[in-house]
Amino acid sequence: MQPVISFFPVGNGDMSLIRLLDGTAILIDCRIRLAADDPSDPDARDVAKDLRDRLPRDDNGRPYVDAFLLSHPDEDHCCGLRRHFHLGAAEDYADDSKPDEEKKIFIREMWSSPIIFRRKSKLHVLCEDAKAWAAEARRRVKLFREQGWASEGNRILIMGEDKDGKTDDLGAILIKSDDVFSRINGATNNYFSARLLAPSLVCDDEEEIDLRAKNRSSVILNFEIWATPVGMNRYRFLTGGDAEVDIWERLWERYEATPDVLEYDILETPHHCSWRVLSHDSWSNYGEAAQVSAGARAALSQARYGAKIVASCKPIVEGDGDPPCTRAKREFEAILDPVDGKFVCTGETPHTWAPAPIDIDIAAGGPRLREPRTATAAAATAAAAAPRAGCGD
Ligand SMILES: [Zn+2]
Repeated sequence: MQPVISFFPVGNGDMSLIRLLDGTAILIDCRIRLAADDPSDPDARDVAKDLRDRLPRDDNGRPYVDAFLLSHPDEDHCCGLRRHFHLGAAEDYADDSKPDEEKKIFIREMWSSPIIFRRKSKLHVLCEDAKAWAAEARRRVKLFREQGWASEGNRILIMGEDKDGKTDDLGAILIKSDDVFSRINGATNNYFSARLLAPSLVCDDEEEIDLRAKNRSSVILNFEIWATPVGMNRYRFLTGGDAEVDIWERLWERYEATPDVLEYDILETPHHCSWRVLSHDSWSNYGEAAQVSAGARAALSQARYGAKIVASCKPIVEGDGDPPCTRAKREFEAILDPVDGKFVCTGETPHTWAPAPIDIDIAAGGPRLREPRTATAAAATAAAAAPRAGCGD
C-alpha cells in the first residue's frame, strides 16, 4: 500500500496514524472523546470511526495496531483508551463475535515513556485512561521480566531510560536515547526506522513530577518512512508530544554539529502549536515582546524542501490564548517559507466548521496532502459507486 500518515481532528490533543508500505500500523496517542464528555464541542467529529476506517483487521477480524506509542500520559493524548482498546492479556480478548464497530482495537505492542513507572504522588496525577495505560504497561513489562519474551498483544518497548537504573534490566525491550531502531511487534520491519531523540534519562526529583515534567518526558521520535520498497525514497516524520522549549534547546545542543538528525519532511508541531515550544517567555505576559529561543527554533527548523508542518489543535485564532498560539504559527510558517513548505491545522482542515482527518501520502516524490474526505465528497463517491436502478439485477 501507499504509506500514509493521518492526523485526526481531536481539538487540542494528538492522534495520528502511520501506515507503512506493508500495511503495518503505528498509532501515536489517542484522543477519542464522547461528544457528551465535552459540552463545549457537542458536534465533535466521530474520530473513532475515522481511525477504525484506517486500521487493518487480523485473521480473527480484529482491528489492530502493530504499535501504539503514547508520547506521555496526559488526558489529551490517551482519552478513550479504555473504551476503544483491549487492555489485559491478549488471550482474554472477548470481542470476536461482536460487530466490527464494537470490537476493541488490539494493541500488538505498546511503546511507552518510562515516566509511567513513577510512583504516584500529589503532583504526579494521572487520569483514568493514563492509569489504565500504566497498569497495562506494567503487566507487559512484568511478563517480559518473568519469561524473557512476550507474544503478540503482550509486547512492549520502553522509550528511554529511567533514573536510578530502574530500566537497566529491560535489555531487549529498552530503546535508549539516540538509538535508531526498526523493530516492531517482535520483528524487524524493512520499511521504517526511527531515532529516539527523547526522553533522555528522566531524572527529575519525584517532587518535580508535575505537568511540565510530564511534558518533558514526552517521547520524541524521528521516523524515516520508505515510500518505495527499495528504500531509495525515504521521508522523515518528526513527532514530539508536548515537549517544550528546554527539551528542544537541549536537542539543538546535542545535534548542532549533525543537524541532519533533526531534519524532517513532516513535523507535528509539539504541544498543539504552543508558544511554550519556542520561548521561555509566556505569551500571556509578554505577547509580541516575547523572545524566541534561538536553540529551540533551530532544532525545529531543519525542514526539508516541500516540508509539511501539522498543528494538532483547535483553530488558531488571534487573541484566543495559548495553545494554539498565532505567533507560534507565524514562526512555523517562517521556517517553511524558504523550503516552499505548507502549514496545516487539524482544526481548520478543510473547514473550521467541519474538520476532517488530514491524510498525507508518503509518495515517491515526497509527502503529498490528500484531498480531504468531506461529507460532500464522500456522498459523491457513494453515489458514483452505488448500483444504478433499472440495470437488471
Ligand atoms: Zn497535549
